[in-house]
Amino acid sequence: MSATSLSAMPQLDSSPLASTLDRRSIPDLLAPLERIAARSPSLVANHGANFESGGETHELPRYLLIGPKGGDEPIRIGLFAGIHGDEPEGVHALIKFISLLELKPDLATGYCLFLYPVCNPTGFEDRTRQSRSGKDLNREFWRGSIEAEVRLLQSELVAHSFDGIISLHTDDTSHGFYGYAHGATLTRSLIEPALDSAGQFLPRNELDVIDGFRACKGIIRDGYDGALCAPPKVRPRPFEITLETPSAAPTYLKEAAFVAALRTILLRYREFIAYAPNL
Ligand SMILES: [Zn+2]
Repeated sequence: MSATSLSAMPQLDSSPLASTLDRRSIPDLLAPLERIAARSPSLVANHGANFESGGETHELPRYLLIGPKGGDEPIRIGLFAGIHGDEPEGVHALIKFISLLELKPDLATGYCLFLYPVCNPTGFEDRTRQSRSGKDLNREFWRGSIEAEVRLLQSELVAHSFDGIISLHTDDTSHGFYGYAHGATLTRSLIEPALDSAGQFLPRNELDVIDGFRACKGIIRDGYDGALCAPPKVRPRPFEITLETPSAAPTYLKEAAFVAALRTILLRYREFIAYAPNL
């Protein structure tokens, strides 16, 4: 989450033409998901979340994954990646996770997953933390932001009243995997095994202070104002987990750690829901 080292990054070529040519392609990125959605009854590409930026129309990619039927009501989880455009690890991991769920649908039994793999499309294209308007979108939530991406995501957060919210990030100042736990009391019981699962691939950051916040065994209870979260007045609070991978690790390990953590959260939360009526 830290932005400290970014200002020191040298610009290789700041001419507008070069930066345009250097842009990442979101259609290329999402092609595997579009192929799955074209033939799968469980994955829906929910196009149409368009917004304007710099005189161009952009799309905020949205997918809906409907798992095999479980209990009564489907559990609604929102998964968000790429709100910082220079953190592609979470974006790729979420795409991998969706592909895995297509191969192993039982993992999503009882769930309705709302997937937002590229929350900052212009920043992802430009490889920048901020959106093309220059804003860190993850400091803009529930503060009357005029940023179109934030307003779109806020309306999704209101409309779907998620039972759980998971965000994926990269930290270039951390040597290990860690996370933020907010919202429902049981969040702690979800993030702990999630960090354990990620620990098969990447060490946990065990420092007492991470990203300027007090931490305990890789878990931070504090957080940044304006970070993506459920609407402030929503009660009961959903579980809210932000997972942070260290940026220096090899790509395949970062993705494997995210996927393992996500898988564990779905497994554990479904267990909680199954036992809750009997408590
Ligand atoms: Zn981030």
